[in-house]
Amino acid sequence: MSTASCRAFRAVLEASGEMVGERALAERVAWLAAVIRRMAAGVVAEHWNRVHLDRLGSGVGLDGRALPAKGWMAVRRLGWDAAIPEGVYVSDRVRRCAEEEAARALRLALYRRAILAAIIATWPADPGRRTDAEWTAVRVALNATAGAAGSGVSSALIRNRTRQLRAYLDEHGLSPAALTGLGGQAGVVEVEGPPVVAAQVLLAAADRQLVTLERVGASGARLRVQLPLCARPATRRDWAWHVLLVPLPPQVPADAGLRCPSLRVMDGRVRVDLPFTVAMPYAPATVHAVAVGFDWGVNTLLTGTVGRLHNGRVEGDGRPLIYDATTVSAKLHRLRGHREALAAKRDHYATLQAGFAPDATRHEKVAALHQRADREHTRVCARIRHLNNALSWSAARWAVDQAIALGASVIYLEDLATLETRGRRKGNAALCGQVRGRVADAIRHLAAKAGLAVVAVPARGTSKYCPRCGTGTSPLRHAPAPDRLKERGWKWAHCARCGLSCDRDQAAAERIVSRGLLAQHHTVTDRGTGTRTIRIVVEGNLARARRPRKPTGAARRARRTRTDLHPRPHDRARQDRTKTGPTPKRPSAQRPTERSSTERSSTEKAFSQPPDRRLVPAPTIPVGQRPAGQAPQANSPTAVRTGLVRDSHHRTGFHHLKAAPVLALGEYGSGRHKGYARPKHLIPQATTENRRRYGERARD
Ligand SMILES: [Zn+2]
Repeated sequence: MSTASCRAFRAVLEASGEMVGERALAERVAWLAAVIRRMAAGVVAEHWNRVHLDRLGSGVGLDGRALPAKGWMAVRRLGWDAAIPEGVYVSDRVRRCAEEEAARALRLALYRRAILAAIIATWPADPGRRTDAEWTAVRVALNATAGAAGSGVSSALIRNRTRQLRAYLDEHGLSPAALTGLGGQAGVVEVEGPPVVAAQVLLAAADRQLVTLERVGASGARLRVQLPLCARPATRRDWAWHVLLVPLPPQVPADAGLRCPSLRVMDGRVRVDLPFTVAMPYAPATVHAVAVGFDWGVNTLLTGTVGRLHNGRVEGDGRPLIYDATTVSAKLHRLRGHREALAAKRDHYATLQAGFAPDATRHEKVAALHQRADREHTRVCARIRHLNNALSWSAARWAVDQAIALGASVIYLEDLATLETRGRRKGNAALCGQVRGRVADAIRHLAAKAGLAVVAVPARGTSKYCPRCGTGTSPLRHAPAPDRLKERGWKWAHCARCGLSCDRDQAAAERIVSRGLLAQHHTVTDRGTGTRTIRIVVEGNLARARRPRKPTGAARRARRTRTDLHPRPHDRARQDRTKTGPTPKRPSAQRPTERSSTERSSTEKAFSQPPDRRLVPAPTIPVGQRPAGQAPQANSPTAVRTGLVRDSHHRTGFHHLKAAPVLALGEYGSGRHKGYARPKHLIPQATTENRRRYGERARD
């Protein structure tokens, strides 16, 4: 199920055929939303206490029967019916919408309460930073209090709630011991006020007496809804059926099933949040042969690699798939700084304003400044939200495209729940943590549409051991750069035993893909949410296989013309081979300078494949700034057929973002390639040491 955000431009009054313009329509929808919001807020405020939340949380009604899943029905079973404002006439269906809204707000509060209870029960010694043991404890407690939903709680949410509790303690001058008084039971009622109810109309709670929806052609929908004709409708006559023709955006397929939408008004426009369902291909949890694994990096948001299971062995092709969001991260970091500054300014003006008498001349000035700071703060918040959102969907789209192009049937991600305590970084680096949860959700959504499974694997220790030779025996050394292997650092991984030298995140991604493929029989599917997880670590090495070389031009030509690749001279057989004189010297190729044979072999061979080990970082694809305007269209026949675009700009949607292009996978590895042997090491530089190591062996 997805939601398409549509816009209704006008409506027609069903009875009279009168046209209602966008402004009038927005006004009427806003009236309806306001009435519903008022009723819903009344229900929430009335029942915002421990006893009532407990009753809703118990899931059992007053008559001893289980509460219905539908929110408005549960609220009615509990006898918490919404009160209709004095002098206003609303139908029972409108009341249902309000009760649904209230039920959702209260059920969300129950969820927050479960998280708070788990945090209170396992209050850490230093609330600023939990130790490994404390993180484990809070996770265990969450699984106990929040049930199936507990495993989906992100670390960022736990940190935010911990901060909220700390602020509460500071405000009331309480010690952490006082929390246990709150804990276990409600907590949320004391720590926060009743939640704000959104101004929207949840038509899903109503039936055909308030709303009907039908599809019109491939790209439109006809929504009939009863709207009030004035702000305070006093009688039934103040309501009328409106017919809204809603154009559907192109992502809604022609065979999608439309569900009842929600209406809201934003910036004077009528937004129709229209859920639609599409049939989803089944993605099995096991029997995967080709997989893509992704590692969450610090600035490179995602680093991935492909892995293939063959005869119980995992093979990779050594190509790193990188989605480098450094520039967007920096932008987000700046915006967050700006947001903090604006919040401080706003609070400062609020304090100043309180110091002046309301009739003082300066009061008015400060009030205006306060308003302005507040407005700017709201805008910056919205900008951050939109950028986070765009980045998450862009990264997810890229990741799923890579998996499709590489022929994978499953995507393995690091389990965010086990990811904490790694990388103690602040500031710029920390922000990706917020985005990760959204990216993971977006990948799950897009992968489900493409019939790919998404499985979380344990993140612990992915960069600790060499992915190629060591399962627990040869630890990777981390260096700042490939030419500074002696120093301790973060970015570069080096294995002294087998000589592996590659990007830290790429090594981790290889470990993730091998953990996933080898432990796929331990995949657990959560019944409530459908998320898949592997909790058992099965370590195995990943061999880097090469793609077979393309046949040379001569070989291709020979195959095409059906001629022998190495033809014999015709007269060879009849030639008299008895030796009568000295063998003539063969003409040698002209070389610019004279060099030794080892040097020649190292520098003059042309390789079409990337070297297996590098002494310098892999070159990033040079991307310049695309000129402003429309993104270049992909017009190559392959791109059109597969729907995949080689130009990474086109896919990411960001000007200054580097991402590995989406390329289809050629065959590689031993399954396809009979004569596959361990790849020969290339000689990156003709140093004395390398000459000794490789040159000697080659001569033997
Ligand atoms: Zn190694």
